[in-house]
Amino acid sequence: MKISDILSQKKLSVSLEIFPPKKQTSYDSVIDAAMKLCSLSPDFMSITYGAGGSTKRNTADIANELQTKGGVTALAHLTCVGASKESISSVADNLAARGIENVLVLRGDIPQPDEKGNMPEGFFDAWQTDGYAHASDLVQVLKADGRFCIGGACYPEGHPESRNRDADIENVKYKVEAGCDFLTTQMFFDNDMLYSFLYRLQSKGIHVPVLAGIMPITQASQVQRMIKLSNAYIPRKLLMLVDKFADNPAALKQAGIAYATDQIIDLISNGIRGIHIYTMNKPDVASAIMSNISDIITAVNA
Ligand code: FAD
Repeated sequence: MKISDILSQKKLSVSLEIFPPKKQTSYDSVIDAAMKLCSLSPDFMSITYGAGGSTKRNTADIANELQTKGGVTALAHLTCVGASKESISSVADNLAARGIENVLVLRGDIPQPDEKGNMPEGFFDAWQTDGYAHASDLVQVLKADGRFCIGGACYPEGHPESRNRDADIENVKYKVEAGCDFLTTQMFFDNDMLYSFLYRLQSKGIHVPVLAGIMPITQASQVQRMIKLSNAYIPRKLLMLVDKFADNPAALKQAGIAYATDQIIDLISNGIRGIHIYTMNKPDVASAIMSNISDIITAVNA
């Protein structure tokens, strides 16, 4: 099913996320986590994509298994950094052949030089001569292709490379005009960041559905990583609970789940219609949050 149809039919949608195996995890363990997430009945699930195509087969395989075995609509991420137009086109064909109708189109992060200042060998060759510079360039092509419902990323606190937030919103507008059917936000930990961002999107005439990205913080090490990755503002309340329970993993997990639940309930109370939970292959965390909001989801969708 196309996600645009899910979003127009439901008053509230909740989606979850899975990432393909990294070196230390096996494909089977990821599928096991994915099936557990499917059993929580999300409206759809997204599958991340290693920039440069490092997970391209696994992303398509997992998306296929979510739909055929898990019975859940899949949203396959697809990045264009480090890739030629031809290779992206073959990934898109493979997704379509496997019945994947939804793609989250991204540029991907540009790799940092190593300690000697060298960039990964060959990474830029095909991309710079024959690739898509920005996500919007690929959005335009896949929109014209017509096979997919297309999502794009947006950043309530601004993308780290943007000159300023106004320039960032202009780029979001351009991406939506290129053909995005919906947007998913970068994680944020202060809901006011999202409300003010939505206001700015509206005032620029951007009216596609925006799914609010919520990342449950359940490990102390996540906080520094999240700040580095997303530049997200971490409210004092969240810093305090991480500090207080840093040495007690079970307590920190419980407190992180409560914080994410609280954020989600506030979003729903304020009329947000799409929640995307960055579940990070952790079915236990997703299950606890889904259970905390199950009656709320039923009530809103009644
Ligand atoms: P773009 O939309 O291309 O924007 C990148 C930068 O360029 C921004 O600063 C933007 O303002 C600017 N820009 C855009 N268009 C123009 C233009 N025409 N002219 C000048 N400047 C422009 N990464 C992965 O590797 N795999 C994933 O699966 C993945 N999933 C993600 C899911 C979500 C919901 C989000 C929010 C991020 C995800 N990322 C993923 C990270 C993402 O790839 C990075 O944040 C990346 O740096 C930007 O991707 P983008 O699609 O937003 O790029």
